[in-house]
Amino acid sequence: MTFSPLQGELDDNLVQGWETLPAEHGVPMTTSSEILQVEALKCSFGGIFAVQDASFVVKSEGITGLIGPNGAGKSTIISIVAGSTRPDSGSVRFAGEDVTGLKAHQIARKGLVRTFQKSNLFARMTVLENLLVGVTSMKGDGYVDALLGRWRWQQAEAKLVDDARALLVRFKMDRYEDTYTGELSGGEKRMVELMRAMMAQPKMLILDEPMAGVNPTRAREIGGHLRELADEGLAILVVEHEMVFIEQVCNRVIVMAQGSVLAEGTMAELRRNREVIDAYLS
Ligand code: ADP
Ligand code: MG
Repeated sequence: MTFSPLQGELDDNLVQGWETLPAEHGVPMTTSSEILQVEALKCSFGGIFAVQDASFVVKSEGITGLIGPNGAGKSTIISIVAGSTRPDSGSVRFAGEDVTGLKAHQIARKGLVRTFQKSNLFARMTVLENLLVGVTSMKGDGYVDALLGRWRWQQAEAKLVDDARALLVRFKMDRYEDTYTGELSGGEKRMVELMRAMMAQPKMLILDEPMAGVNPTRAREIGGHLRELADEGLAILVVEHEMVFIEQVCNRVIVMAQGSVLAEGTMAELRRNREVIDAYLS
């Protein structure tokens, strides 16, 4: 994010981790093209394991699917990776750095942003307001206020409004700028959630069932947007049940069952895997 008229001033200020996001994006990656490395994660709730010794990697390039039956632990894994649930053990490395145990906004600041399985937009706020609130909550707003001061905050906010409007145009949602999100269809809400995540200018996006409650036309449109974002260099991990979407949009697929990873590969490879067929594809 560049703050054209203010750039010099902002650079001189202690606003690290927010305006300096692009600089962090320049952190050298590990030599491999693995942006996310999940190692031996375990997580239990009340003594029952939701995730049990799960390990996998996600490559920086392309779209990775995460599939598996209900209760397999997909959402729990996402919560752990994104910093909203603490694992019992195991580690998460993002862009070559150990991020295990960091808070969600700290991880978002490093460029890893997720959406939720259940929509969590503010129904009584407009689409534009949701996009603006989203970015401050992802980055930690109290801290931004304190460091920037009121006048600078207004300038920064003007830039955020420009960014939000550019996203609305890109995702063909500009006519809904002033619509309350409570009035939107399921598919439109998913689009707003996607745009809200993009406001943080992530280098990796994790989507938890972005097609849930979305009609087929909109689902294809969302799939197209995700492909375009991936082609521009965004790493994407997507949990989805809709196999047509997984087939058409994902380069690689990770299969989970009962809290751990059963297999990974292209859909063509997975279709030849007996265990996967028995657990999930049959
Ligand atoms: P998936 O997203 O693959 O459907 P989840 O990660 O949501 O699976 O859930 C995995 C298991 O963990 C399920 O048995 C679920 O009931 C349990 N679980 C998830 N979150 C919690 C929680 N906050 N408290 C108790 N149990 C949970
Ligand atoms: Mg889930």
